[in-house]
Amino acid sequence: MKKTVTFSKDATNIFFHILTNCNLKCRHCYINPEQHGEKSLPSETIEAWLKVFAEKSKDANVIFLGGEPTMHPDLSLAVKKAKVLGYNSITIDTNGYLFNDILSKVTPDDVDYFSFSLDGATRQTNDMIRGKGCYDKCIAGIQKAITKGFHTSLIYTVSTDNILELDLMAPLLEDLGINRFFIQVIGIRGKSAERGRERLQVSRSEWLKIIPVVANKIARLGITVIYPKVYLSLDEPFECAGLVAENYFIFPNGRVYRCPLCEDFPLHSKVFKDNILLNTPKINEYDLFELNIPEGCVMNKLIQPDNLSYKKDGTPEYKVACCMLKEEVRG
Ligand code: SF4
Ligand code: SF4
Repeated sequence: MKKTVTFSKDATNIFFHILTNCNLKCRHCYINPEQHGEKSLPSETIEAWLKVFAEKSKDANVIFLGGEPTMHPDLSLAVKKAKVLGYNSITIDTNGYLFNDILSKVTPDDVDYFSFSLDGATRQTNDMIRGKGCYDKCIAGIQKAITKGFHTSLIYTVSTDNILELDLMAPLLEDLGINRFFIQVIGIRGKSAERGRERLQVSRSEWLKIIPVVANKIARLGITVIYPKVYLSLDEPFECAGLVAENYFIFPNGRVYRCPLCEDFPLHSKVFKDNILLNTPKINEYDLFELNIPEGCVMNKLIQPDNLSYKKDGTPEYKVACCMLKEEVRG
């Protein structure tokens, strides 16, 4: 059963980068130290910022990210604090190295999901993208988390480097016992933006031919599959999550974005100063959200226009959806 997960103002999602440091150097890493800082947030600051969002919404979900969040020695304290503050769900995104013995410091009651990143069904492809040894480390991390009773997700960032292995993920996910599978589009930001004109995003025809078929195949194994909708026909409604949803992407330098595609630029609409969340002056991302263009997402047109296509009269052939609009398929 497939459904489009529409945006909701009722749920707040906090994507909390508690540090930007990482043990890996993935080819597509979106972390941009110049824009996001290089600090590891002190425990008291993490707690203070978590409190701000818990007070703002009774139904907030938090996703701890980095860099590699398990490199933060106080991640377990942050998880416990989020629990006490009443966060609706707590997720840890990890590259699988699981530093600081994190699986022994939190329990499946504390953490709803450990979300692992793997970008290839084979060791060769994954390690070409993420670095030598990562495949084995990630698989071992997943197995350890499942043995300890944690729910697990796997995130696969699709690019021209690995789309042909997506189909091979089905047996691997089933063997491992993964609960949810997230397919993402590679964003042209961070290191990917530095790779210039190299074609990293797959074409619209490849995306539409491969992704829904693989998603259905994996869902039939009893695994929930979530993938971005990406393309809208001209008569489908377009919504910008920056205007109609409550997603916050927090970085250690205090910047808070509403749109992940803005993260390479000083366009954040909020900022933490002395642990108080303030609005930033114009011009910021909000000024872009409000632009109404026939191509759909404004930031897509600005930073990854190669995925647009136009008719002879100059009008777009289709729209590009907000990157946060997802399809969810369950078997
Ligand atoms: S694991 Fe994540 S933060 Fe670390 S290098 Fe890879 S993409 Fe960047
Ligand atoms: S990705 Fe596009 S549509 Fe979504 S929040 Fe950003 S600007 Fe808005």
